[in-house]
Formats: sequence, structure tokens, C-alpha cells
Amino acid sequence: MLSLVIPVYNEGDNLEVVFERVKSVIQKLNVGYEVIFVNDGSRDASMGAIRRIAEHDRNVRFIDLSRNFGHQIAVCAGLDFAKGDKVVIMDADGQDPPEIIEKLYLKSLEGFEVVYAKRRSRQGDGFLKKLTAKWFYRILGRLTHIDIPLDTGDFRIIDKKVVEVLRRMPERQKFLRGQISWIGFRQASVEFEREARLAGKTGYSLKKMLRLAIDGITSFSNFPLRLATISGFLFSIVGFFLILYTLYARLFTDDYVAGWASQMITIVFIGGIQLLGIGIIGEYISRISDNVRNRPLYVINDTNIN
Ligand code: UDP
Ligand code: MG
Repeated sequence: MLSLVIPVYNEGDNLEVVFERVKSVIQKLNVGYEVIFVNDGSRDASMGAIRRIAEHDRNVRFIDLSRNFGHQIAVCAGLDFAKGDKVVIMDADGQDPPEIIEKLYLKSLEGFEVVYAKRRSRQGDGFLKKLTAKWFYRILGRLTHIDIPLDTGDFRIIDKKVVEVLRRMPERQKFLRGQISWIGFRQASVEFEREARLAGKTGYSLKKMLRLAIDGITSFSNFPLRLATISGFLFSIVGFFLILYTLYARLFTDDYVAGWASQMITIVFIGGIQLLGIGIIGEYISRISDNVRNRPLYVINDTNIN
């Protein structure tokens, strides 16, 4: 059986269209299927649309979360309930064209546990989004030891084996494309043209994007922490010589009142470096404390899965 996990945040105007397209593609594949819509606290008519779709098609499941938990967590909720031998993760806004599912599925049959869809082009996304995404993935690639494929989102098909490992990864800061690379197995890609979203506007605010980026880096790299250590080291060495010089000037020369400017500069500069270091450590500590709290990852309001 094939499961499709589709996170939904304010996609009321897209759901019917996308679902029809999904259905006609899957029917060609000749496999049993289930579509799991995860409503991530939408404020529009999405949930009503999902219920209507579910009433007419018994292959449709839904999980209605109690509030907006964010895209990655919504996908995880869907994965937790997916029963398929293979699972497709895709967006609800038409940007991941359902027609590509066929390519993903056929490729996976060749014996790949992960087949991700790689964007050949990207329509409908702003210049800034493309540029920041491009740089982010290149920097991330440098900072981490795992290979996170460039120009891919979460649109992909993964084997049950991979889903089972994902369920056992307890971290709360989910960065699925990184986790899936980390898990390994045989991975392949198919290319596609990313379309513009059908209706509505992006649910990924700048804040959410930044959060995902920092989660991605902190989950897979300790380099920023090391950066704090390295700069701390460098500046303590400089500081040590500064102290020697200050003592020398104070004890053996007459002009020790001078140097106010350099003192101010030093204090401000070192202060800045310290704050930066503390800030970076804080980012990691806040994530540790998030994990130690051990709260449930999401809360379900209603579902038709039993
Ligand atoms: N989404 C979600 N929760 C959120 C934001 C987005 O479940 O907090 C869903 C959204 O409905 C869509 C997918 O995640 O199916 C991708 O989001 P979006 O299209 O807004 O992001 P973009 O394509 O602009 O990066
Ligand atoms: Mg989108």
C-alpha cells in the first residue's frame, strides 16, 4: 500500500483540486492507497474541505491538530499514522505536482528506499526565497558531514523502513530532509519543475523559515559552538598580550593615561564576542531543554484513523 502524507495549513481553495489530481495519478499506479491530510491548525475552511473529501472517499484519513505546530511536525504526525509500505510526502498547494508521484513511485520500485524530487526550476517563489534557500543549503553542506541533497524540499517517497527509523528519532527540532539523509539506505532523485502555488499564500513566514534554518544547522552541526570556542581562544590570546602591554606601560613608562580609546574599543569588542558566544550556547541549550521537557510533539483534536 502507498500512503500520502499531506500537511495542510490554510489550503481551503487548493485541497479539492490537488486531491483530484492525486487520485487520478494513483489510480494509474494500480496500488492500494491512503491519503492522510494533517490539518495543522488552519484558520480557513480547510478542515471542512478535508471532511467533505473524506466522506466521499474511504481511502482518505485526516488528523486534525489542536493548533498550528508547523510544517515539519505536521508531516511527522502523518508519518506516525501512515500504514503504507511506501510513503509520499507532498505539499497541499500544488507546488509539488501530483503527477510526479508516478515518477517517484516507479523509481522507488527499482530498489531505492528514498527517492526525492529535485527542483529543476522553481516558479512562483520570490527572488529572495530562492537566493536564501540556495545559500542556506550550500552553507549547511559545508557545516555538516551528511549529504543533504541540494534543491530539494520534503517532496519525496520513502520506504516503510525509513519511516520506522524516523519515528524512533526523538528530537523535537525536526529537519526531515536532514534526518532522512542521515538515515541513509539507497537514495535516488527524479527532477521536476516546481510550480507556483495554486491559490492562497505561503504559510512559511520569514520567522518559520529562519527557525527551520537554525534547526537544520543546530541539529546536524556543532560548528557554531566551536566557532564560539575558537573566537574565545583567539581573543583571550590577544587579551593576554594587551594586559602585558598595559602593565608594562603602567610600570615602566609615564604615558599610561593615554589609551582610553583602545580600552573602550577592546571592552566593546570583547563584550560583543562574549555575547555572541553566549548566544550560540543559548541556542543549543534552549534546544536541549526543549528535548528534556519531553512534551508530546503534537496534540490531536480529531481524527478518523483508529
Ligand atoms: N504548512 C503546514 N504548517 C505550516 C506551514 C505550512 O502544514 O505552519 C503546509 C502547507 O499547507 C503546505 C506545506 O506545508 O502544504 C508547504 O508550505 P508552504 O506552501 O506555505 O511553503 P512554501 O512552499 O512557500 O515554502
Ligand atoms: Mg508552497
